[in-house]
Amino acid sequence: MSTVLLTAFTCGWMTLPLSFFLDGEEGRIRCPATAYLIDHPKGLAVFDTGLGSRFERPVGTPFQKGADLESDALIGARLKAIGIDPSAVKWIINSHLHSDHAGGNRDLPNATIVVQADEWDYAFAEKDRAYHIPEFDTGQPVLKLRGEHDLHGDGSVVLFRSPGHTPGHQCARVTTPTGIAVLAADCCNLRRSLDELRLPDHCFDVDQYLATLKILRERERRGERIFFGHDPDFWAEVPQNRPLDFAARR
Ligand SMILES: [Zn+2]
Repeated sequence: MSTVLLTAFTCGWMTLPLSFFLDGEEGRIRCPATAYLIDHPKGLAVFDTGLGSRFERPVGTPFQKGADLESDALIGARLKAIGIDPSAVKWIINSHLHSDHAGGNRDLPNATIVVQADEWDYAFAEKDRAYHIPEFDTGQPVLKLRGEHDLHGDGSVVLFRSPGHTPGHQCARVTTPTGIAVLAADCCNLRRSLDELRLPDHCFDVDQYLATLKILRERERRGERIFFGHDPDFWAEVPQNRPLDFAARR
């Protein structure tokens, strides 16, 4: 298996009702939109692209309610800041196509979109306002998957279905030199979602959502590290802009 380096980024912030993540809770939560660079000898992939330019504001201007993206937090700007040319990214793996996960897709112009086929089809059906078609209908090549997919054929980056939040949500299991990361995105928004097996107040399929959480719980028991999609406390502890080193964090 080749060496894979995994780097995390926040690409914008959102302020949402906490019940969006934990049914029955009061109040609001300010949470990060997240993305990752997956650096493999066969090429660069990005898992999710955060919020896109329609939410962008110049650096240093007042914070926006709802979705908020300082221009230096666009995925392309994030990559440039660590010396990566956005046009060199070969693949965008979208966990799903909601605006806080596919918003920056067109910032990586030469990438092939890697997405589950049923997610792609559902996103165009306009049944869910969290999709914004211009963000992902970009003309970029699309690799539509029907189930598990080993991106490089060596087991280092394996995509697996994790439906419930949306019909074709997928996660990535990334094997780095110091540990295995599961990039959960919105099938597991918060640490509490997993610990309490708590569902959001709305999702595509409740039974699928719960089954997915149980699968992640089992993976965590095996020592895989779950990266919660929108957990501000968890993300406050995730080093950004340099490859993650799980050994250093112990
Ligand atoms: Zn999300």
